Amino acid sequence: MKKVLVLGAGQLARMMQLAGTPLNLDIKAFDVRSGKVVLPIAPHHAYGDLAEGIANADVITAEFEHVAHDVLAECERSGKLYPTSESIKIGGDRRLEKSLLESCNAANAKHHFVNTKEDFDAAISKLSLPIIFKSALEGYDGKGQWRLKSMEQAEQVWLEMAEFISASTTQVKQGIIAERMVPFDREVSLVGVRRVNGDVAVYPLTENHHTNGILSVSLAAPVHSTLQEQAGKVFKALTDKLNYVGVMAIEFFQVGDELLVNEIAPRVHNSGHWTQQGADTCQFENHLRAICDLPLGSTALVRPTAMINIIGEDTIPDNVIAIPSVSLHWYNKSKRAGRKMGHINVSGDTEQQLAERLLALSVYLDEKAFPDLAEFALSLIHI
Ligand code: AMP
Repeated sequence: MKKVLVLGAGQLARMMQLAGTPLNLDIKAFDVRSGKVVLPIAPHHAYGDLAEGIANADVITAEFEHVAHDVLAECERSGKLYPTSESIKIGGDRRLEKSLLESCNAANAKHHFVNTKEDFDAAISKLSLPIIFKSALEGYDGKGQWRLKSMEQAEQVWLEMAEFISASTTQVKQGIIAERMVPFDREVSLVGVRRVNGDVAVYPLTENHHTNGILSVSLAAPVHSTLQEQAGKVFKALTDKLNYVGVMAIEFFQVGDELLVNEIAPRVHNSGHWTQQGADTCQFENHLRAICDLPLGSTALVRPTAMINIIGEDTIPDNVIAIPSVSLHWYNKSKRAGRKMGHINVSGDTEQQLAERLLALSVYLDEKAFPDLAEFALSLIHI
């Protein structure tokens, strides 16, 4: 029985444990807040501290990219960390991410690094408005971002960003990336996996919808092969360059037939949760297979599937699971506005059937908590 230690004890570690148990993998998690090792699905009992967790593990991985650098260094010294600390850090610093994209010739939005007022002015003349400014560190779900649409806002935006940079208490120096606003048609992501020997498998591209900057719905259905091929090449290039091991997610903007990389997540990802019901092998199991050096499982789409995030709600009507091929996944978290509490996977034999089931689901769910779900379902129905 291989023993895996996951850095971070949230829902991603929990779902890794649920997926890894049938393979006889022993999954524990290091809770960075309490400093204790726990079982992700029963976190009240502690199994020692980080040093004991590292000593007891065969393999160490991470469920989030903002792990303290000294923790990553300690894990890396043990020789058990997959992916490497370099890969994990890239997901937590947009400057490193951009440098990786450039070194792999991966298409992305035109950008400029900003630390000073001079850089800010240079970014405006290089990129031209509208521009989106993003904090290099600790930015997620749309936080730490400013949009500049007209020059009248420039002074205010700069003042807010300068204040943000100076108030930042990050270990590494905070900074800003200015990015040209991309007039994208839609946002998609590719979740894939790479094994130690370089074997790669990718899931079909997933279409993502956001509400208030947070992922609300992902849709996995048969995709256009040219786009899939393009995304697959980017995945291979980035993961080969990093000698990456495990699951990685790449978020893209689709502009016509072109994909521009927006972000990289060096871990299992929310836009891959549909794989639990819609793919041959789910992303959690494939991540574990990769880091434990087991053969990868098929990433084929078994049936069209949508994932709906449950955000800030701790109950939904029981009747929801009476709808065929609807699966409910709670994370056992206490309720907080804007918090990801669980998700619902819905599948259909065809996209039409999936749309009908989503429509049936939308009848039970509170419109305020799940805005635009009925509209999304209707948009999938082909008349
Ligand atoms: P991010 O935190 O980088 O994923 O950005 C949050 C959201 O802002 C994305 O999901 C997009 O909807 C939007 N966004 C980010 N960067 C750009 C860009 N360069 N052009 C247009 N929209 C963007």
